This record gives sequence, structure tokens and C-alpha cells, in this order.
Amino acid sequence: MLPAVREARETERELDLGGLAQHGEGAGWGFVGYLDLDCAQEVCDYKLSGSRWSQNCADRDWQVDAYLWLRELAGEPAEEFCFHVARPGSEEVAVIRTRRSAERLRFFERRLAGIAERIAQAVSSRVWGYAPEGAWWCSRKWCASWDGCPAGGGVA
Ligand code: SF4
Repeated sequence: MLPAVREARETERELDLGGLAQHGEGAGWGFVGYLDLDCAQEVCDYKLSGSRWSQNCADRDWQVDAYLWLRELAGEPAEEFCFHVARPGSEEVAVIRTRRSAERLRFFERRLAGIAERIAQAVSSRVWGYAPEGAWWCSRKWCASWDGCPAGGGVA
């Protein structure tokens, strides 16, 4: 049975930073979120996951910050974010709720702007760094170029 939601308004709502505020457009970058289910006081996201989702995962997930931040910029701050997690082969849908403080949303905003600036610099200079250190996909198992790549197996 599907969990109840409060005051549902729109599915797959697009929130485009470029159209919302001065942050993106003037700075030369944009940011777009697609909210699975937009409600008056909460944002719901639907997951189909075989792995364990926990309160800890929800409290740390950057998707929450991104969507609650976009709602705030739209002038419609939401109280909380709600993951509805279905598991393959099960009719159970877990509901995990989480919130973000104003300080955390400011931190996210600074972090996003920093990342966007680094990308913009790389685009203009045409100098891109390697994959983030420790990234799981940067490995012999997942990357076909690993053996010959200076950032992979080709490291001196
Ligand atoms: S090995 Fe090189 S090409 Fe492959 S993911 Fe890492 S940085 Fe990218």
C-alpha cells in the first residue's frame, strides 16, 4: 500500500535555478531539480532500492539539500523531505523523513557555487582534473581505460 502524502501538488515538478534567482544565471551557471512529488509542506522522492536505506542515509543525502534549497529559492520553503523506498519483491514501502537547517542549506549553497565555479573554470581553460580521488568508478574493475590512464593504473 502506498504511503499517504500531505497536500500533493505536482509530480516531476521542474525547479530551475536560472528562472528562480540571481544565483545561477548571472554567475554563468544553472541548476535544475525535478521533484518526484511536490507537496505544500514536503518534498517526496521515490526510490526502488534493493539496498538498505536508513535514517542516516536520508540525513546525509545531498539530494535533500538540493531540493529543499530550490524550494526555498522559489519562495515556498518545505518543512521536510520524505523518501518513499520500495524494495524489489516486497509490497512494503518504507517512509524515511528528514529535515535540513537553514545553516545546512547555506552550506550547500556555498558548496554548489564552488563546484559550479570549478566546472566553469575547467570549461573555459579546457583543463579538466581527473576523477575524484577514491571514486569507485575509477578502478580497473569499472573503467576500461584504467590500465593506460595516468590517473589509474598508469600512475608513475
Ligand atoms: S582511470 Fe582515468 S579514465 Fe578511468 S575513471 Fe579514472 S580518471 Fe577516468
